[in-house]
Amino acid sequence: MTVFLKKTDYDRITAHARAGLPNEACGLIAGKTEGDQTIIEKVYLLANVDKSPEHFSIDPKEQLTAVRDMRTLGFVPLGNFHSHPSTPARLSKEDIRLAFDPKALYLVVSLAKETAVLKAFSVEHGTTRDLPLELV
Ligand SMILES: [Zn+2]
Repeated sequence: MTVFLKKTDYDRITAHARAGLPNEACGLIAGKTEGDQTIIEKVYLLANVDKSPEHFSIDPKEQLTAVRDMRTLGFVPLGNFHSHPSTPARLSKEDIRLAFDPKALYLVVSLAKETAVLKAFSVEHGTTRDLPLELV
């Protein structure tokens, strides 16, 4: 499975992550799947109600509004993204523990270095899989 993300959405995600420092930032992603391609059509920049540099919880009200918007636009909820302010772009043990949906896409953006690093994963039975990500 290859994940396609618009360059403009990549920029919005990294800007949201930087704006959220020193805490983790988060949001939802929606779009469509065609064969083995997952196309991200819309990114929702949402609030981390945990206000923590080490974990996140998406604001439930904002989540509801985003999911309604996805339905209106005919997009499928694909998964979520969150930032790691000072750790690499890979899912933490906690992230994996909380990843219940094997079909969901998890994006992690690391701000540990000057240049942001964004990676895509899926998680099945506690095992993380790296997904190829293409900016379009
Ligand atoms: Zn994490």
